Amino acid sequence: MRIGILAVQGGFDSHARALAAAGYTAVLVREPRDLDGLAGLVLPGGESTTQWKLIARHGLGPALVAFVRSGKPVLATCAGLILLASKVRNPEQPSFALLDVQVARNAWGRQLDSFEAAPDGGGDPMVFIRAPRIEAAGQGVEVLATYRGEPVLVRQGSVTGAAFHPELGSPAAYARLFPWSAPS
Ligand code: GLN
Repeated sequence: MRIGILAVQGGFDSHARALAAAGYTAVLVREPRDLDGLAGLVLPGGESTTQWKLIARHGLGPALVAFVRSGKPVLATCAGLILLASKVRNPEQPSFALLDVQVARNAWGRQLDSFEAAPDGGGDPMVFIRAPRIEAAGQGVEVLATYRGEPVLVRQGSVTGAAFHPELGSPAAYARLFPWSAPS
C-alpha cells in the first residue's frame, strides 16, 4: 500500500523509514501528481511557516486540500498538524483549516522544548519537539490521547493529528496510529 509523505521540508525521512518498517511503500510528495493513487498521506513535523511557503512555491496547496477532503486517511504530525488547523496562534499564520482545532505554536514551554512523556493514563511514550499545543477542539474532533489534561492526539473523520512525533517512537505504536487497513 502506497502512503505519501509531504516532502518539502522537515522530518519526512524518519516517516519514510517508519512507514517502511510498518510494511508500507513510502512515496515522497513534492508536486501535485505525486499524490496520484496514494492510499493515505503523512504531513510530517518541521517548520510550519517554511512548509507553508514551500507548498505554495511547489503549487501543492489545492492538490493537498483535495486529497484531505477526499476522505483518504491523513496523519498530520506537529508542523503538519499546524498546517491543517482551523486557527494558528503564536504567531498567527495561515492554514488550510481542514481540522477543527486551534493550536499555539511552540507552546509547550521553553524548558519543555523537547521531551518524551507518556500520555495521561499511561501508554506508548510520545516525543515532543517544540510542539504545538491544541488549545481548543471543535465538537467533531475526537480526543484520542491527552498529556497533562490537554489533547495531544486527535481525530476528525479521516484526519488524525498528533502534537508529538510518532515516527520517533516505537514502530508498533506508529503502526497503531494509522487508520488505514493492514499493509499489502
Ligand atoms: N515548532 C514547529 C512549528 O511551529 C513545529 C515543531 C515540529 O514540527 N517539531 O512549525
